[in-house]
Amino acid sequence: MAAAQDSYLKLLSNPLARELAGRLKLPRPAVLRRYRPGDPLLPGPVLVLGAGDSAGTLASALLDWGLDVRRHATPGERIGGIVAVLDDVAEPGDLAAPALALGACLRQLAPGGRIVTVSRPAAASAGAAAAPAAAAARQGVDGLLRSVARELRAGATGNGILLDDGVDATAPGVLGALRFLLSGRSAYVDGQFLLVGPGTGTVPADPDRPVAGRAAVVTGAARGIGAAIAEVLRRDGALVTVVDVPAAGEQLAAVANRIGATALQLDITRPEAGARILEHAAGRHGRLDIVVHNAGITRDKLLANMDADRWNAVLEVNLAAQLRMNEAFLASDLLGPAPRIVCLASTSGIAGNRGQTNYAASKAGVIGMVRASAPVLAGRGGAINAVAPGFIETDMTARMPPAAREAARRLLPSLQQGGLPVDVAEAVAFLASDAADGINGQTLRVCGQSLVGA
Ligand code: NAD
Repeated sequence: MAAAQDSYLKLLSNPLARELAGRLKLPRPAVLRRYRPGDPLLPGPVLVLGAGDSAGTLASALLDWGLDVRRHATPGERIGGIVAVLDDVAEPGDLAAPALALGACLRQLAPGGRIVTVSRPAAASAGAAAAPAAAAARQGVDGLLRSVARELRAGATGNGILLDDGVDATAPGVLGALRFLLSGRSAYVDGQFLLVGPGTGTVPADPDRPVAGRAAVVTGAARGIGAAIAEVLRRDGALVTVVDVPAAGEQLAAVANRIGATALQLDITRPEAGARILEHAAGRHGRLDIVVHNAGITRDKLLANMDADRWNAVLEVNLAAQLRMNEAFLASDLLGPAPRIVCLASTSGIAGNRGQTNYAASKAGVIGMVRASAPVLAGRGGAINAVAPGFIETDMTARMPPAAREAARRLLPSLQQGGLPVDVAEAVAFLASDAADGINGQTLRVCGQSLVGA
């Protein structure tokens, strides 16, 4: 079954239809700025706002990337991205000047432009919380950013980077996260924060091929999001193995042939699944560096009508299998020296969803597993993170009732459309790379700032 197309969005690519939609006051979702190798990082100059030292050092770092960097907006000039450096706010009164400076140049933001705030969390991941006034100001950035992101139009997005204790604004992981958030790779990431902790200091040699030479495995890769993840990892230089159930063997082989990967037919709920994956990857590449736990199923029912089979099947595929495989990977010498694991969660696991108690429990479970496994992975120089997609156009969402599906698409805050598998894939590939240095145990939503989804 082909994934549901957003036919309204397709229709709007016709200028006449777009104009008519405008006259009828219908939503006119923008064509999102997605990554294409070779494209400039931003659709215009980058403006670095902030009076503190960090703003200056960050502006120099961006100059080193060859960007056209401004410290003040020139009236009337289109701006590709705005980096607002707020790491020095110490009390709520400190928010006014940067917030108003940001507001004053918003109208100049180009279509597909980006806003990224750089600030400190109200409470660091380890250690004491900041003093109440500082914590209030820092948490205030959260509300400011998430709200301004909802005010943006024309496919522009707003996201934030949080600097954990001991991390400065030009740490490798901060620059890696900033590049991801400014680029077209983050097209459907909106209103989100990435916390960057102390990392290993390793950065990808080539930012366009950040996983070059890494041996990666993607489960559930015969179609949908998994196939897109495999393709993006391959584009970014990884040596990829795609895994799916034997019943999807033909589709799996087609994906493998198309992208230049190897295929492994395997039901991930088998007790020996972890060992089989290790054996396959090590047999071809000598080790396993990147694992993407993408395979997942839904068996929706209201809890009052839920039966044990539906409950157990979902928990088994979406959660128990991942836990078992991770145990097998971490116990093995075949896991590479800096392993990176990325798990697919869901916005349902964050906000809950009617009819999805089993699915939401499994996906919330993934978020908990990731958080708890982070220290173990850090101890091996690696990381484990989750991506929580919202409404993504795949076979899974094609099964939603048509009216609910259409409402879900248009009610999405500023982007007014579902995401594409590639949007999730780009976030996964970022977290699977050294560009995400210092990001560990976190869940990144790829949801166009909505909590509706599968
Ligand atoms: P999909 O149903 O299109 O594809 C899932 C793939 O997983 C299929 O190819 C299937 O054969 C495979 N799979 C299922 N059980 C397996 C098993 N036991 N062993 C091996 N492979 C198995 O789903 P999708 O929309 O591409 O979703 C991919 C992931 O993203 C899932 O974890 C899903 O929960 C999550 N997700 C999707 C959405 C969305 O909007 N589509 C939203 C949030 C989260």
